[in-house]
Amino acid sequence: MRLVVLGPPGAGKGTQAVRLAEHFACADVATGDIFRANVAEGTELGRAAQEFMDRGDLVPDGLVIAMVMDRLAESDCQAGFVLDGFPRTVAQAEALDRRLVDLGTPLEAALSFEVTEDELLRRLAGRAAAQHRADDAEQTIRHRLEVFAIKTAPLIDYYAHRGLLVNVDAIGPIEVVTKRILAALDGNRRPA
Ligand code: AMP
Repeated sequence: MRLVVLGPPGAGKGTQAVRLAEHFACADVATGDIFRANVAEGTELGRAAQEFMDRGDLVPDGLVIAMVMDRLAESDCQAGFVLDGFPRTVAQAEALDRRLVDLGTPLEAALSFEVTEDELLRRLAGRAAAQHRADDAEQTIRHRLEVFAIKTAPLIDYYAHRGLLVNVDAIGPIEVVTKRILAALDGNRRPA
């Protein structure tokens, strides 16, 4: 399975991406996790990304695209991947398309997680308290939602035009949302 997961911060992408990667026995590639690990290890990439992350801004496309292309070349991605948090801009989506077309392994679906803004704010406040994520601090949350609306939401149309978009109601118990996703993917998957 080659899948991208789109949705605002707090939509549950990370939780579902782990479960989907397990279900499809493929790699779970979460760009936010990779950046956080680089920040924790003090790598050059981490130092370059940190100021953007702390402000709730996107890390520049050049850095993100290079990192993801390297990651997709690793052997575990041969079995497919669930991309969580990438692409977040049209330029990232185009870079991904180019790479996958070159490899002859196009995306199979783009999942769009639908959650109301009230529910997002409630979840993000809970996550800030539980995980001490600097970018879940209250003043940063609204900014991240704005960045999503401006930079990432256009990808919903981008994938709809390509016949890849699968919308999912992401409110409900974790297992119920996973079942909904799997059912929706079954109905929408591009024939091999
Ligand atoms: P996440 O855990 O996916 O919410 O990502 C945390 C932060 O990492 C984001 O707010 C961005 O600063 C950065 N980040 C993760 N993925 C991307 C991406 N595809 N493009 C730009 N920045 C990203």
